Parts: sequence; structure tokens; C-alpha cells
Amino acid sequence: MNILEQHNLIDDNTLAVDCVCNQYAAINSLSDLEALPKNIKITEMLVLGSGSNFLFTQDLPRFVAHIKPRKYITQVDNLVVAWAGTVWHDLVMWSVNRGLGGIENLALIPGLVGAAPFQNIGAYGVEIKDVLVWVEVYNWQTGLYHRLSSKECMFSYRHSVFKYHEQPWIISRVALDLRNNSDINISYQPLSDYFEETGKEVTYANVAAAVTQIRQSKLPDPEQLPNAGSFFKNPVLNDQQIRRIQRRHKDLPLFPTTSDQPEAYKTSAAWLLEQCGFKGFREGDAGFYDKHALVLVNHGRASGKELLKLANQAKRMVKNKFGVVLEEEVRVM
Ligand SMILES: Cc1cc2nc3c(=O)[nH]c(=O)nc-3n(C[C@H](O)[C@H](O)[C@H](O)COP(=O)(O)OP(=O)(O)OC[C@H]3O[C@@H](n4cnc5c(N)ncnc54)[C@H](O)[C@@H]3O)c2cc1C
Repeated sequence: MNILEQHNLIDDNTLAVDCVCNQYAAINSLSDLEALPKNIKITEMLVLGSGSNFLFTQDLPRFVAHIKPRKYITQVDNLVVAWAGTVWHDLVMWSVNRGLGGIENLALIPGLVGAAPFQNIGAYGVEIKDVLVWVEVYNWQTGLYHRLSSKECMFSYRHSVFKYHEQPWIISRVALDLRNNSDINISYQPLSDYFEETGKEVTYANVAAAVTQIRQSKLPDPEQLPNAGSFFKNPVLNDQQIRRIQRRHKDLPLFPTTSDQPEAYKTSAAWLLEQCGFKGFREGDAGFYDKHALVLVNHGRASGKELLKLANQAKRMVKNKFGVVLEEEVRVM
């Protein structure tokens, strides 16, 4: 295994910030995983996929195991099994092109398959937990593999066991139950509008194409404008908070949470930020995207610290104006 010292991750995170890690190894296969040194402590390791959900604010005194993109998908016992390095969108397209449904609403989410269970990726009313059957993890300290069932993954909104408890685990493979008779969910307004306006047939492939088109019109491509997608989670509000905010803001957007909290409502973090004037706001090279206030962007050479300073400023303003504490979706280190 080729271990690099003092490697700069600027090309390995979609916010394109400078960050030097102590040690770095590229992981292309299971045998690369198995070659990792066994004596690395949990707090000294960092598993990196395509770096689309990180904000690095300082150099990392860590060993970075960098899963590199490499497509490997098979069908085993009616399950679709993908290697952690498979690009997520490639897995979506592989599935819909074979007439298999279940993840078409998750088209074009950046990143690799191995990271998808970590925060239970979701979009347009669907989360990976809806179809996930098991996750295989490699324990770099023991050299053993384990399988976790969906239940053991403890999924909830942008959350999983992988976030709750740090373990010496690297996700190596993911198995999904994708079927040719899965229900299609176009309940989200932009999707239902798309099919009404275009009159297209509602198929898995057409839903993936629609989601791709809608996302491209709303979100900046990290290659063109470095970003990490939604910087904050959509906050869940209790009845009291809703009533208090609605006294001044009758137009407060509310939508049901996913099944883990059926009685609760989420609001739009983008709307809260917009009300505080952050849509398109810029300080030096750090800014919020002008078409979507939830997306923190790097207009050039902003450092991780500058981006974090702006994010914290926005967080404070939202807290002062609405009494709502925003929680980061992106992993800040
Ligand atoms: C433009 C844009 C739009 C986005 N839209 C969405 C969206 O709609 N929905 C959504 O849920 N997310 C969205 N994201 C966030 C991001 O795409 C997802 O979180 C994605 O799963 C991250 O994949 P990655 O390979 O880049 O992981 P990284 O950013 O490299 O890592 C993310 C986390 O997963 C861990 N991790 C990565 N690989 C492994 C592994 N093999 N084993 C164990 N841990 C691992 C890392 O340690 C880290 O904590 C968006 C991001 C961008 C830039």
C-alpha cells in the first residue's frame, strides 16, 4: 500500500478548500482495504469518498483512507449489491436502465455508494433506507467484515448508526432491494408538475431524468462552483415553535417529516436563510448561492475557516430572528 505523507485534499473535497492530512492512502478495492494498517485508532482515521459532504476548516492530523471511484455492481439473490466506490448516480442509472425501481428519485446526488448509508441520503420524498437491505463494513482493526441489517443501521432523517457511534468501520458494500414493480413516488410538487407539463410516461427512467433536470436547474455543479449541497438540515419544529413563527410569518413553509417522526413538521432551512437575507449574500469568496440560500459556495479561494465563519453568522441570524437552531448537514472538521 502506497501511503503518502502530508497530502493536500484540495482536489478531494467539493468545497475546494485547502487541507493537508498527515497520511493518505487511495483505496481502489477490497484488497486495498485489507492492506490498511491495523493499529490506526478510530479518532486518527478519516474515511473519505468524493468529499461532497465535508467542510475542512483546518489541517487534519489523521490517516485519510480515500475510496476512489470504481464501478462494481452485481445482482445477488434478487438484491443489487454495489461496491462502496461505485458512483451513486451510476448505480441509479444502472438500475433504471434495467427497469429496476426504488432509487430513481435519488438521481444525481453526488458521491459514492459507500457514503450513502452514512447520512441516509434522501431527496424528493425517498431515502436510501427505504430500499436498503444490508450494509457490509470492514473493520480495519480486526481485519473482519460484518453485515448490518437495515434495522441495525438505525436510519432516520440524514442520520444512521455510522454517525451516532464512531467505529473502526469502513463501508465496503451495500445491498438494495430494487424491483421492477416498486411503487413510483412523484408526490413532490416539482416532480408532479414536471409530469403534468410534459405529459411523459411515469417510468423509473423518466423519473430519474426529471429529477436530474430539476436538480441541474436548482443546484450549482461543484465542478463549476464549489459547494457541498445543503449546508444545514431542514429543522423539525414543534407546535409551539410553529405557532410562534406563524404569528409574524403566515407563509412559513411546512412539510411532513419522513416516517421516523410522522407527527412532526419540518420547515425549509433555505426559506429561513432567505428571510435573513442570505440568498446570494457574499463575503469575500465565501457566499450563499444566489438561486438557493441553503448552499454555501466557494467563489474562489475562500478558506474553510472563512466559509465556517459565514455559516455561523447565518446560523446566529436565524436563531435570533426565528428562535430556530440550524444543525449542519455537512460534516465540519
Ligand atoms: C450539489 C450537491 C447536492 C447534494 N444533494 C444531496 C441530496 O439531495 N441529498 C443528500 O442526502 N445529500 C446530498 N448531498 C450531499 C452528498 O452528496 C451526500 O452526503 C453523499 O452521500 C456524500 O458522498 P461522498 O462520497 O462525497 O462522501 P464524503 O463527503 O466523502 O463523506 C461523507 C461522510 O461519509 C463518510 N464516508 C464516506 N465513505 C464512507 C465509507 N465507505 N465508509 C464509511 N464512511 C464513509 C465520511 O467519513 C463522511 O463522514 C449533496 C451534495 C452536493 C455537493
